[in-house]
Amino acid sequence: MRHLSRESEFFASSEIHLKGRAVSRGIGIGKIVRLYSRRGQFYRIKITKEKELEKEIRRFRAAVRLAKRHLQKLILRNTAKTQADILETHALILEDKSFLERIEAVIRHEGVNAEWAVEQVADSYMTIYRGLENENLRERYIDIKDVAERILSVLARKSLFQVEIGEDTVLAVEELKPSTLVALESSGLRAIISENGGWTSHAFIIARELGIPAVTGLKGFLRWVSNGQTVIVDGYSGQVILNPSAETLEKFRDKADSLKNWLMPERHSFKSLSEEFSENPKTLDGKEIKILVNLDFPASYYRARNYGAKGVGLYRSEFLFNLNEGFPSESEQVSVYRQISELVGEHKAKIRTFDLNLESVYAEEKSHEKNPALGLRAIRLSLSYKSLFRQQIRAILRASVKGNLDIVLPMVSDVSEILKVKKIINQEKNRLTRKGIEFGEPSLGVMVEVPSAVFVIEEILQEVDFINLGTNDLIQYLLAVDRDNETAANWFRTLHPAVLRAISKVLSEANKKGIPAIVCGEMASSIAYAPILVGLGATELSMNVNSIPSIRRVISNIAYEEAEAIAKKLLSCRTAEEAEKLMRQEFSKKWQHLYPEDFFRKGFSALR
Ligand code: PEP
Ligand code: MG
Repeated sequence: MRHLSRESEFFASSEIHLKGRAVSRGIGIGKIVRLYSRRGQFYRIKITKEKELEKEIRRFRAAVRLAKRHLQKLILRNTAKTQADILETHALILEDKSFLERIEAVIRHEGVNAEWAVEQVADSYMTIYRGLENENLRERYIDIKDVAERILSVLARKSLFQVEIGEDTVLAVEELKPSTLVALESSGLRAIISENGGWTSHAFIIARELGIPAVTGLKGFLRWVSNGQTVIVDGYSGQVILNPSAETLEKFRDKADSLKNWLMPERHSFKSLSEEFSENPKTLDGKEIKILVNLDFPASYYRARNYGAKGVGLYRSEFLFNLNEGFPSESEQVSVYRQISELVGEHKAKIRTFDLNLESVYAEEKSHEKNPALGLRAIRLSLSYKSLFRQQIRAILRASVKGNLDIVLPMVSDVSEILKVKKIINQEKNRLTRKGIEFGEPSLGVMVEVPSAVFVIEEILQEVDFINLGTNDLIQYLLAVDRDNETAANWFRTLHPAVLRAISKVLSEANKKGIPAIVCGEMASSIAYAPILVGLGATELSMNVNSIPSIRRVISNIAYEEAEAIAKKLLSCRTAEEAEKLMRQEFSKKWQHLYPEDFFRKGFSALR
């Protein structure tokens, strides 16, 4: 114990340098706010007014009542005896007076939000149970954990972010949920430090879109830091510095200024469209590459347009789900899709249907999937819960009267799913016609991101108007490495020969048939990989808004012929290591001026 407290003191006062993996560029300096829980994420909120405290207690009691109702429903539905027994145990915990009173006491006496109090009390119970000798009783800590999560997930629906977090906040979190970032988007976060999550995790994709620096992979970080500690987050190198001295702060402020303009234009800058950005970039030998943007927030399109984006290559519609904490209604969807249609004007926007997993949608039903990424995700979920899918299809049809919206289906594994969706689209068109509602004729495309789709690409190309190549999931599934798992990040090898050969096959088949192929995975946003994609035959790249200027710059400084020659050599490499080494040699020899100093040592390894 003495040892632990000495360590805590050390973390509280000395300047400490830690090293993680940089996943969103920029330098952020601010004060730590710890986020709790992996699901309905929250932080400790201090409540001082008596009236507010009483309100918080009422909020907690209402959440317990609702959690109980959910449980009762589940108990009635569960015929399996063991399952019902477990749920009965949970219901008893939810009625346990001492458990509930303790939570209320923490809210009242510590003056904190309900989430924090639930977490504290549940933690103390779990510690006691874990220490028991009797094995059966010891295992009961899991029941406490389940019940606490159930209450927390109900509390999360009544959004907790009523309290603005400070302008100089650096979030410290075990694993960041995209919905948390969406909820905090306008509060001016300085940076994110996460214990888990990889380069292609959705939360970090959003962080990059918002220009919020982020570092991941700092295991155990939350255990040692407290709210309010000053920290520097270097989203270029992955360095995190706790309790920096005045001198260190000065040094990093200078570094921030000098690097800012290289890779990322200043956050929220709305420079007018300059001449150099008005046309698509061309390689040195004249090959035109179409630049599109991946959109999570419609408002980002203003910036994308100023950087010369020619439409939206991927709109991740599931972020509507996060915003509204539930499925958005048909009319809510129509209005967002119409807004996008207006925004892109003469260009097109590809609306991807919800790419959600069962757990994120039906959390309270305890629909636990052991491997959600391999479960009822994306098109599988849509085809299993058809009424919600039909609603989304109708919304897109209705919003596309201007003719500039397309439909993209996520996680398609073969032609049968496309045929099923075509039938649904026709039925919904008929329904709208019968009702006299106006609609458009969107083109239909699919994400190619499941390995099976690569092997049946010829058949798929016969059924679609275009394809979107999703390299994030393609790498995850081809290499069997969880894209969100930082521990396995060293196995997420973008230049693995299997990945390059799959991309090459898909692009060359699409090019042969004249079907547009848009690369929209994070590879297209990276100055290391975009030239390789061009060399492999990509002519349309859809990327994060903040990557557009640097990708344009790289493309216009490279000859297609040379990119193609390098891609060819990479395709014949035997391992990812060989390919990475070769790429480093070739690029740093030919185009060193295009990459920031140290890029191949630091920046590139962050991308893997
Ligand atoms: C992909 O998988 O590459 C992709 C673009 O989609 P997402 O990142 O949303 O899974
Ligand atoms: Mg994907």
